[in-house]
Amino acid sequence: MPRKKVIAGNWKMHKTVQESEQFVKNLISKSLNTQKVGVILCVPFTSLFQTSKLLSDAPVGVGAQNMHWEEQGAFTGEISPGMLNAVDCEYVILGHSERRQYYTETDETVGKKVQSALAHDLKPIVCIGESLEQREAGQVEEVLDRQLRGAMDQVEANELERITLAYEPVWAIGTGVNATPEQAVESHRFIRAWLDEAFGEGSGAAMTVLYGGSMKPANAETLLVHDDIDGGLIGGASLKEDAFAELVSIAAKVS
Ligand code: PEP
Repeated sequence: MPRKKVIAGNWKMHKTVQESEQFVKNLISKSLNTQKVGVILCVPFTSLFQTSKLLSDAPVGVGAQNMHWEEQGAFTGEISPGMLNAVDCEYVILGHSERRQYYTETDETVGKKVQSALAHDLKPIVCIGESLEQREAGQVEEVLDRQLRGAMDQVEANELERITLAYEPVWAIGTGVNATPEQAVESHRFIRAWLDEAFGEGSGAAMTVLYGGSMKPANAETLLVHDDIDGGLIGGASLKEDAFAELVSIAAKVS
């Protein structure tokens, strides 16, 4: 079956509960082509409950942006997978480069979180990608291999359909400089070949692999038109209803 394009917003540390509610109401008043495109909003923890409630009858998935791997305990400031379940959160972004960069997320902790998310019926959106320094040193594949091993080593082949991967070159995130379609496609093909190698022939072709890094309406079509790019994980351009809805339309158009 061909993979459906997916447009996932990552609001990062933006929007109060009230602002989230306004966004969601405006978004669902637009006619999003959710037949052709999977739509996901990854919102701050404080907005999860309300956003899930507002979207309970809409074909739009709701996700968190991080979680702890433990069920509960003395982890001040952390959120557990069970807490995400309790607010009907379906997805969780894991291993975002901002978590790796500022909050000591490692390949090992990403792996633990992937296991815990799967065990709690959450769908991980696992982010991987190289820094500019690593790209310039010719280490893209080495970095992706290491990050994939960290995240996926304990995953069983039958769990792959619940995981989404997002190739997000760090140098493209929030910078306005997106990867060229050729750079993105090259990495996506590497990721699919890695999956074939690790989980068996056809695993790569079955997996949803998003691109993230300064994707916006002005450059989305050139990226999304490629079969290897299954959609976008969108930061900045997911904060405005119009831009986000336009990205969904572009993804539908090229599907
Ligand atoms: C992101 O944070 O995942 C992201 C891709 O951000 P931006 O679209 O702003 O580059």
